[in-house]
Amino acid sequence: MTLRQLPSVEALLRQSDDLIAAYGRPLVVDALREAVEAARATIRNGGPIPTPAQLTDAARVRLGHRLAPTLAPVINATGVIIHTNLGRAPLSPEAVAALAEAAQHYSTLEYDLARGMRGSRAAHAEGLLTQLTGAEAALVVNNAAAGVLLALTAIAKSKEVIVSRGQLVEIGGGFRVPDVMKQSGAKLVEVGTTNSTHPRDYAEAVTPKTAALLRAHHSNFRIVGFTTEPTLDELAAIAREHDLPLVDDVGSGALLDTAAFGLAHEPAVQESVQAGAGLVIFSGDKLLGGPQAGIVVGERSLIDKLKKHPLARAVRADKLCLAALTATLLHYLKDEAPRKIPVWRMIAMPLPEIEARANRWAQAWGGEVVDGQSTVGGGSLPGETLPTKLVALSVRSPNKFLAKLRAAPTPVIARVEGDRVVFDPRTVSETEEAELSKAVIAAGR
Ligand SMILES: *Cc1c(COP(=O)(O)O)cnc(C)c1O
Repeated sequence: MTLRQLPSVEALLRQSDDLIAAYGRPLVVDALREAVEAARATIRNGGPIPTPAQLTDAARVRLGHRLAPTLAPVINATGVIIHTNLGRAPLSPEAVAALAEAAQHYSTLEYDLARGMRGSRAAHAEGLLTQLTGAEAALVVNNAAAGVLLALTAIAKSKEVIVSRGQLVEIGGGFRVPDVMKQSGAKLVEVGTTNSTHPRDYAEAVTPKTAALLRAHHSNFRIVGFTTEPTLDELAAIAREHDLPLVDDVGSGALLDTAAFGLAHEPAVQESVQAGAGLVIFSGDKLLGGPQAGIVVGERSLIDKLKKHPLARAVRADKLCLAALTATLLHYLKDEAPRKIPVWRMIAMPLPEIEARANRWAQAWGGEVVDGQSTVGGGSLPGETLPTKLVALSVRSPNKFLAKLRAAPTPVIARVEGDRVVFDPRTVSETEEAELSKAVIAAGR
């Protein structure tokens, strides 16, 4: 009897114009049906009969959950600047604008305006890259892993590539650089030992089948103690002596000297070019601070081989990437990178600025400002930290508190240090502060 008192889906639909406008009729029908089903189950268990308004509200909640984007913005309060799980480098406003323009309109992606005919996609970022790195030529692909794959496929397939055992790295997420290298069909000839490889190890491994010497940046780990590796110059000299290209996977793609920011020296792209590496490969979204991309710069004859290889088409960069990358590279050319590129702004953020923000937060939330360390992350500068000021909150259950922060309208990712939840202002932009405060206060203690 009571079940009959429930309104029909048809009747509810007639009062759901706003939902239909927002979500479309088929999804609303599904959600209302589910809401009515759930209400039936509740009533059978002795629960109350919901009103029509309660049923449409229940459907609204279901639709909200069902259509919530899985890829959504979060606030990174961890102090890890290039946080791979949180999308690596945020873009500058200029890069975002360029990306939006390219997305919204037709563009000169492969069109030569002066001649009114087909142009080249290579025209966009490559000129900037050669100017900035001093290389003869450049190529942009989907990511650095694709750059390594394309480079080795194009120049070393079915041949041998010599690489140090100490450089066969896994860069996180179970991704191993040597596995990608093997996909190229090149045979990796491993030389030296985990902690020690000498110039003569490379020289002795050269055979008529050798196509290249390979150097891969350690990126995310450090070998300490008794350890030796040839310098870049030594490797380049061996390569020259045997008339072989040196392929240098530098990983994070620093165009600025990290040492000028109080960090250890991260291999810079320009140094590899200058030392004579034939191909230098790096990511667009690590220390470069741009969109996901793989950038290959080097000798024109080698870059041409890569461009002509059929795989190049499969791993090419798309127009959104090229637009954002070009705008990012312009910041370097205009000598404004540390001010304009978010990753460098965070690295360069003065401690007093961080402290002032931490003080404000601590006052608003009832927390304490403590000394801490930010890290660069993203497989660069392992073990290196930047002194920072954290806001520490004592809460009853740190893990429950973190879960509440993650469930906020704009989820907040923070971390636990000791038994307190800590927030690092360095990786939170000023435009995110209001949302962050709301989330922290709403999470209670
Ligand atoms: C990060 C990294 C890569 C992979 O770069 P993606 O752009 O993520 O493909 C390759 N090699 C090294 C040394 C790295 O640090």
